[in-house]
Amino acid sequence: MRLYEFEGKALFKKFGIPVPDSALADTADTAAAIAASLNRPVVLKSQVLTGGRGKAGGVKFATSPDEARFVAQSLFGLKINSYPVERLLIEPKLDIAREYYLGVTIDRVNYSLVIIGCSEGGVDIEVTADLHPDKIIKLALDIDEPLYGFDSLALAKLIGFQPKQYRAAQGIIASLFNLFKSYDAKLAEINPLVELKDGTLMAADARISLDDDALFRHPELKEMGIEKRHEEGELTPRERQATEWEIPYLDLDGDIGMFPGGAGFGIMGNDFIQYFGGKPANFMDSGGGPSPERIAKMLVLLDENPNVKAIFGARFGGISRCDDFAKGVIKFLKEHGLSKPMVMRMTGNMWQEGVRLFDDARRENPELFKNIEAHGIETPIEHIAKRAVELAGGQSQQGRANICLS
Ligand code: GDP
Ligand code: MN
Repeated sequence: MRLYEFEGKALFKKFGIPVPDSALADTADTAAAIAASLNRPVVLKSQVLTGGRGKAGGVKFATSPDEARFVAQSLFGLKINSYPVERLLIEPKLDIAREYYLGVTIDRVNYSLVIIGCSEGGVDIEVTADLHPDKIIKLALDIDEPLYGFDSLALAKLIGFQPKQYRAAQGIIASLFNLFKSYDAKLAEINPLVELKDGTLMAADARISLDDDALFRHPELKEMGIEKRHEEGELTPRERQATEWEIPYLDLDGDIGMFPGGAGFGIMGNDFIQYFGGKPANFMDSGGGPSPERIAKMLVLLDENPNVKAIFGARFGGISRCDDFAKGVIKFLKEHGLSKPMVMRMTGNMWQEGVRLFDDARRENPELFKNIEAHGIETPIEHIAKRAVELAGGQSQQGRANICLS
């Protein structure tokens, strides 16, 4: 999950990486007041969890409090990659002589950590990496390998810092590496790491991405207000609800509520729907032997999503039992009720028992089941996918190639 620039800079500060003084504004008046108290030209930086902010016009300058108010007003109206600008980080404008790049990340191919540096940082770092790969300096380290002083010094030299900056650069490299490891980061990046006109080095931007599965190891982050969120952007209200219920769930932009088994079949189910001309409204991992209570909660997420027009429910019982699945669906129908059409299929572990539970409950209260079309192993999964697309009002297409599934 990504951190905001201001959160990243707070961590930089904690680890001894020099950052500018700064304050957050969520109104234009606060922005003006901060500019007045800084009493010098300022930079106003949109706080959004997405890249390319500078190029999208999200970083602006102002020379007076009035101008800061005016600029802030325009930034608050901006959306960057669809993320609205709600907060600005305001800092004294730096006198930049040169922009470097420094980052630490994981090299997934070689199973190592890697420190990356470049003397041509800034908003065009990707272009530099493409055109002049030789200018990108890398040091790979095993996960448990310490970063020695001689290595950080060698890096500072290779990257191209001035001799009088070696010590400072070396310190920043070591601190960034230390921060990366201390917080179980996936990425810790300073772009640009700037050299000011007086030769000092300072982090002008911060991009940190943490492994959210390791967050429990760092309770102090919560105290700083850093809580679980998406890779990019904030969680939608439904995703937040799902997270609270510990259900792996993502909103997508289609209209078919996806309720297949585990993550693998979840992905395949989404492919089926696309294949037959539909669009999934979500991805959900409902595998791992969920209890009936959990199944019922999952259906609540789908049924209450106003974008959902129909639900695709398919269960390949492996570890998960189809009778538990049926119990969960029945529990949901009794306690919540289903407002959307749903087509479902149960096969695998205990599927006959699941179908029997279903039939019994339906006999008892047919009204509850009026929106459900239930199938067992007799119906191929393609039919279920096509039917879900039809129920959502789409024209199910034949599919773009022959597939054979059972
Ligand atoms: P990003 O586009 O989201 O990576 O935003 P950055 O924070 O990296 O800012 C983009 C660019 O704006 C930087 O590469 C700098 O050239 C410039 N910039 C950012 N902060 C300052 C500042 O305080 N002073 C000056 N002169 N330029 C800045
Ligand atoms: Mn940047």
